[in-house]
Amino acid sequence: MSSVLRIALQKSGRLSEDSYQLFKECGIRFDYGTGKLKSVSSNFPAEFLFLRDDDIPGYVEDGVADLGIVGENVAVEMGRQVQTIHKLGFSKCRLSIAVPRATDWTGIQCLEGKNIATSYPNLLGSYLTEQGVRAEIHEISGSVEIAPSIGLAEAVCDIVSSGSTLLSNGLKEVETIFRSEAILIAPNELSKEKQELVDKLLFRIKAVQVAKNNKYIVLNAPNDSLDQITALLPGMKSPTVTPLATEGWSSVHSVLNENEFWENIEAIRAAGAEGILVIPIEKMIY
Ligand code: ATP
Ligand code: ZN
Repeated sequence: MSSVLRIALQKSGRLSEDSYQLFKECGIRFDYGTGKLKSVSSNFPAEFLFLRDDDIPGYVEDGVADLGIVGENVAVEMGRQVQTIHKLGFSKCRLSIAVPRATDWTGIQCLEGKNIATSYPNLLGSYLTEQGVRAEIHEISGSVEIAPSIGLAEAVCDIVSSGSTLLSNGLKEVETIFRSEAILIAPNELSKEKQELVDKLLFRIKAVQVAKNNKYIVLNAPNDSLDQITALLPGMKSPTVTPLATEGWSSVHSVLNENEFWENIEAIRAAGAEGILVIPIEKMIY
């Protein structure tokens, strides 16, 4: 029987939409939603399992799944024997310590002997040990941010993205202990056949990610400033330059990293470029 990659994704939550979107952009089709637990791709040797994110590292460690997408926070907290294959750049968040707004915070040593509520006892425990602080960790599985107001703890350690949940619960963020994003994990050992499929998938994921960071740029330039402008637009090999119908002008096409674009745009304009178009790229393969 030929190999099929089993890929575990979060069924519904903050990782789901971007995970589904990633496979879509990689051209891998499968059905999801409406309470499905499993789905087979119609055009790639992959089968998808839809699970709670907390269960994914365990399924991957046991080899029930060959790949999984989870937050780095969950992967590290669970401490399972899995390898990180690739960072995916979405579901970015941080794990932070927060205290009631009125607390006079002078540093992490303020937590000495205090109670801290969290769903991440391992990550918090390692951080406190590293900092030489002894505190009582209370593990709770949800609504951590209400712990101080009900007298359960003097501080919390929770996931933050914008900080608005903390604010609305009268808390202030005082220390970030971990930064997370979605990652692709795999068992430490994969068969040769599965590894080949993983490599094929990774090739596609990287092409999608690189494309997102780059833009296709088209502009008109007076011929006498072409050297100056093309030097600012190196492109994948070199820019394409074609003459315009208007005498003395050319059209320049190139690919540019989005950050470089913003850094160079003034110089490009100052050199006489006009009619600058910046176009998203769908896939990019070097
Ligand atoms: P499940 O029901 O699958 O157990 P959950 O409630 O434990 O889901 P979610 O809230 O969906 O988990 O979060 C999943 C992951 O998304 C987190 O582990 C974290 O990596 C990331 N995450 C959490 N909160 C945010 C946020 N506000 N912004 C971006 N990413 C986040
Ligand atoms: Zn969860």
